[in-house]
Amino acid sequence: MKKLSLNALNRFFGEIAEKQTLIAPIERAGQVDFGVWSESETVRLDVLKTVKSAKGAFFPQVEDMVRFHMQGKNIEINPSEVMNEDFVIFGVRACDARSFDLLDRVFLSDPVDPFYAARRAHGTVVTLACNEPEETCFCSNFGIDAAEPAGDVSAWIVGEELYLRANTEKGETLIKDLEDAAEDAAEETKKAIRAVTEQLPFASLNLEGFDGEHLMEKFNDPAWAELSRACLGCGTCTFVCPTCQCYDVRDFDSGNGIQRYRCWDSCMFSDFTLMAHGTNRPTQVERFRQRFMHKLVYFPSNNDGLYSCVGCGRCLSKCPQGLNIVKVIKALGGDK
Ligand code: SF4
Ligand code: SF4
Repeated sequence: MKKLSLNALNRFFGEIAEKQTLIAPIERAGQVDFGVWSESETVRLDVLKTVKSAKGAFFPQVEDMVRFHMQGKNIEINPSEVMNEDFVIFGVRACDARSFDLLDRVFLSDPVDPFYAARRAHGTVVTLACNEPEETCFCSNFGIDAAEPAGDVSAWIVGEELYLRANTEKGETLIKDLEDAAEDAAEETKKAIRAVTEQLPFASLNLEGFDGEHLMEKFNDPAWAELSRACLGCGTCTFVCPTCQCYDVRDFDSGNGIQRYRCWDSCMFSDFTLMAHGTNRPTQVERFRQRFMHKLVYFPSNNDGLYSCVGCGRCLSKCPQGLNIVKVIKALGGDK
């Protein structure tokens, strides 16, 4: 275990940033989101939920894939370079850290996504335990311990100190020059976090029946109609979600060529995967059902029971209509 006074954090950030890009939760225009650190930025380690999750560090909202330049009858093809420089993402919470495992299953499965794979290889993840879990948090339902976040380095704020433990070689390299500390320095903090987590309102959701065995039963449940009635199809829930991984590939005509890029997409949108014959999900009920069936039934069925929700609670606080996955679990799960 290593330690660092919180007063010295900016100096530590400066040392990291001299060698590689540092991404941290930064306050800009009253909102806290992960962004590139510089001395002039305000880092907010006290804010639990960034507006968008940390997934953008590995799966950006928009990224170029290839450019086609037309010169007469010739076309020059320039594929975008994959990430080739190391970077650090600091202050990732346990829920977002788990989301990287889920995204790995999608993007690192055959065929491997080269853009994502390169970012994963070059990124060092520093996680931070949640000293003050919020009422909308329910990560413990998915086996996530907010007191023991994963990552290359796990960190805990105890009083005016930051304690850091390396979990991987990358992590060891990052913190090797910091002062040594007792291995159990964060134990009391961990106990306190777990005591709060157990008392949270959604700490014990009943996920019984969300498995491959009950797939058609869940699919055909009449409750979907009422659950989705107020859905606007705005996609906010998918854009703030750390585990949503759908994207669209589009072409932009730059005048003398085409810039092909990909950008996050949402199964809540009416034109999602639109084809010449129309769409497979013509109503919002079907789109809404798809989002939650994927997280609670399809994904775990194909991924050793791993749910595609990490209980970050962002959709609980951001949906303009007050719809969310907790309401779905309560309406369709073992408690119904
Ligand atoms: S569930 Fe809420 S956030 Fe998601 S698309 Fe519907 S209205 Fe928007
Ligand atoms: S479904 Fe909601 S609570 Fe679950 S990971 Fe996504 S945003 Fe977080």
